[in-house]
Amino acid sequence: MGGRGAGVGDARAARLHQRHRVVLGGPSVSSCPEYYPEADLLHVGELGDATDRIIEYLDTHRGRPRRPLRFETATRLPLSDFPVPAYHLTPIRRYFLANIQFSSGCPYSCEFCDIPALYGKNPRLKTPAQVLAELDQIVAGGAASVYFVDDNFIGNQKATLELLPHLIEWQRAHRYPLRFACEATLNIAKNERVLALMREAGFVTIFCGIETPEPQALRFMSKDQNLRMPLLEAVRTLNRYGFEVVSGIIIGLDTDTPDTADRIIDFVQASAIPILTINILYALPRTPLWRRLEAEGRLLPDEGRESNIAFRMPYESVLDMWLRCIITAYEPAAVYERYVYNVEHTFSNRLPFPTNRERASWRNVLMGLAILGRLFWRVGIRGDYRRTFWKAALPMLRAGELEALINTAVVSHHLIEFTRQCARGVRESSFYAPEAPAPPEALAG
Ligand code: SF4
Repeated sequence: MGGRGAGVGDARAARLHQRHRVVLGGPSVSSCPEYYPEADLLHVGELGDATDRIIEYLDTHRGRPRRPLRFETATRLPLSDFPVPAYHLTPIRRYFLANIQFSSGCPYSCEFCDIPALYGKNPRLKTPAQVLAELDQIVAGGAASVYFVDDNFIGNQKATLELLPHLIEWQRAHRYPLRFACEATLNIAKNERVLALMREAGFVTIFCGIETPEPQALRFMSKDQNLRMPLLEAVRTLNRYGFEVVSGIIIGLDTDTPDTADRIIDFVQASAIPILTINILYALPRTPLWRRLEAEGRLLPDEGRESNIAFRMPYESVLDMWLRCIITAYEPAAVYERYVYNVEHTFSNRLPFPTNRERASWRNVLMGLAILGRLFWRVGIRGDYRRTFWKAALPMLRAGELEALINTAVVSHHLIEFTRQCARGVRESSFYAPEAPAPPEALAG
């Protein structure tokens, strides 16, 4: 976990908007403001005194400042005082996922993660009433799916248990207009009371930072919470409650060996997790990893490299391992096989959601049919993996699983295309990688 709210792509976008004032904030900016020299105003830290000052600046100044200005929060606003975001100013209907935040901070100390340093180890919380008020706005904007962006949805399990009955009641009262997703540590699988309530509340996807299937590596990075039960058993437990698991995987750890890629590939297949974000390790400032590597003299300038770390293994080997893992994981037949497993063994365990007028509105039906039409044309007729597509699509069509089919085909297509671009050297392996690498010879062309 520890997902970034903004990445270097934002700075590139900033360059495209030379005529406008560019204001950036979020976890990535807060962690590494120096990565965003193109922005005009940087908001560093959470909502607080910096937010008031930046708004005042925007109200009282015109045009772009001569040099980038940094506004840093010294006094955070308690989450329980956060206003409802101005969701009505965003075209939420056009978002694949709307976002909401319940808590901030995480009690764990994974070596590579900056969340505890940035947001604290004692999660701060919104009240259930605040969350419901935000959901009212989100659903009024036409969203169908909402992602809880909390660094760890069970960072404070007692608070999660208090929130969930409110979510259930709200969903029931509105005939389940929303499907929920969140990020949580894998030890969530140990708490079946939380899982049962989450299922009842309409959660369908959980992102877990599994990071590596190698137990000694998890211990080395201080992620022992992933070892509370065998990894595959934890994934199956979540599937049993209808949750599709999405997983983060990291390559380039000090504990990696030449066999690590094989173990990751075996794990991907055995777990049948459809989506895994497989990234190369990058040391972020304010993390224990950064401090250790700095002391060991192993931090490098990242120009022309995919990471700022002097790996234990040769750099080219790490890159090759990463490419091998993603190419194997996102080979069309492999990703479809994992999705088909989940349609049969996970999605079927979800709550039988009641029909909802807005979800089944003509507007949504027409939008779904338009997406299906484009999928049939681009993947089912013109695509080079059309046989794989139809092998999975026909049973889903016969079973009337249109939503599952759209989800499977759209996400798979993105992952397959993304991987092909990585193999050609036109995409980066890490959110922070400054440049795309030259294509490795074996895969070029
Ligand atoms: S569990 Fe670890 S990786 Fe996830 S937010 Fe907490 S400290 Fe970061």
